[in-house]
Amino acid sequence: MFRQLPLLLILLLLNVPFLNGQSTEELVDQLKKEATENSQLEKLAYELMDVIGPRLVGTPQMIKAHDWAVATFKKWGIDARNEEWGTWRGWERGITHIDMVSPRVVSLRGTQLAWSPSTSDSGITAEVVNLPVVEDSLAFVNWLPNVKGKFVTVSMNQLTGRPDYNWEEFATEESFEKMKADREEQTKAWYQNIRNTRYNSRTINKALEEAGAVGIIQSRWSEGFGANKIFSANTKTIPVIDLSLEDYGMIYRLAENGDPPEIKVVSKSKELGRVRTFNTIATIPGTEFSDEYVVLSAHFDSWDGGTGATDNGTGTITMMETARILKKIYPNPKRTIIIGLWGSEEQGLNGSRSFVEDRPEVVKGLQVLFNQDNGTGRVVKLSGQGFLNAYDYLGRWLQAVPKDIRGHIETTYPGSPGRGGSDYASFVAQGAPAFSLSSLSWSYWDYTWHTNLDTYDKIVFDDVRNNAILTAILTYMACEDPEKTSREKAVLPTSLKTGIKQEWPTPRSPDRAGGQDKN
Ligand SMILES: [Zn+2]
Repeated sequence: MFRQLPLLLILLLLNVPFLNGQSTEELVDQLKKEATENSQLEKLAYELMDVIGPRLVGTPQMIKAHDWAVATFKKWGIDARNEEWGTWRGWERGITHIDMVSPRVVSLRGTQLAWSPSTSDSGITAEVVNLPVVEDSLAFVNWLPNVKGKFVTVSMNQLTGRPDYNWEEFATEESFEKMKADREEQTKAWYQNIRNTRYNSRTINKALEEAGAVGIIQSRWSEGFGANKIFSANTKTIPVIDLSLEDYGMIYRLAENGDPPEIKVVSKSKELGRVRTFNTIATIPGTEFSDEYVVLSAHFDSWDGGTGATDNGTGTITMMETARILKKIYPNPKRTIIIGLWGSEEQGLNGSRSFVEDRPEVVKGLQVLFNQDNGTGRVVKLSGQGFLNAYDYLGRWLQAVPKDIRGHIETTYPGSPGRGGSDYASFVAQGAPAFSLSSLSWSYWDYTWHTNLDTYDKIVFDDVRNNAILTAILTYMACEDPEKTSREKAVLPTSLKTGIKQEWPTPRSPDRAGGQDKN
């Protein structure tokens, strides 16, 4: 009987006409038709990425984005508001312009890091020096006065600007192997040298600032052509600039070979004091079990090297588009649908961790949460997150998803509970059934994750549409399911690494007054 029950429920859900005489199949067709023939994804992506831009916590663009989301939901007839959860160091990015002025003139590709202190309008023109090779911290301290009045490069100069896949395609095997061995040796020596100074790659910037450097030049290559990771500065008064691998290499070689380059940096920004931070919460009320919730979850904030298109513009527009489609085709859900667009995920899931603290009734009544946050690709993985019976309800709901969408998805049951990485983890830690709709990578880690290249053009709209249809169907099924989902936890295995039995993750407090240089 126990084993027959799921099958019985599938039959019930798939065949019994319960919505104005409609079968599940008919409703799924309508959801799909709306998503395909009246897609708003391109428009949403344009408005969010191109017009509003990146959504760094504490910036005016983040607030603009929250207001835009509320207005957009309201336009669709969905109730929405911005819920305040804390404050952050307010900052606004201005222009960055970098030129080499000697030994020849050329404009350089680069940008200031988030929260970088501003230069004056006329900027700073100064020579560039590289870090020296030192035996020990005393040698470094003795060298430090050399940085006074200079820009200092603080990144290892890459041996090659070609990604490994490019070497693999064109190099001889011997040459590829040699490059990798050389690079390994260079990397080891680089980190040993930093250790010799007694600083690390973050604290060294502060030492250089205190010694009178006028700016820090880094290049955090992301191992793809043209891609650099852009995080936050940690200086008090001097700018921190990230240069493209190509320009950084040139500057570095000039400094190393006794042709000291001079550069001019204009990088403007504004400090805005403490500013308020929010989550955007939209709600479609449930008609039958209104204190049970299906949450569509995506973080709304981003880093600001690009426009946060795949991290997490795509997750955001997936959930917004899903809400729009549901409101039109399935306006009276049995359970309450909440769309949660979280602030400050990038600094430690702060928006969602605040929400689980501030809205315990949603955690308590959570039927299910679906989060999307790892790029633009179609969903290919779904893990049970350690919930023993996830196979039962997720499996049942997936049966309603057309094969061309479901067929890409590899499920893992019971899986293990997420401990971080994105906002579903804030709910899993509370023992509430929250799941990650995990995407195909589309070179996410090298090319778009926290990089200068995370822009509109990287969005693969057909895959995002696929995900909106999937999320809409799963939401519908979760709302209609006659049963409340089980929260029973699987017995977690012993870690092969540590030999210790794994524990369920425990809730962690949000940072509600942030502004530290964390990444
Ligand atoms: Zn993200």
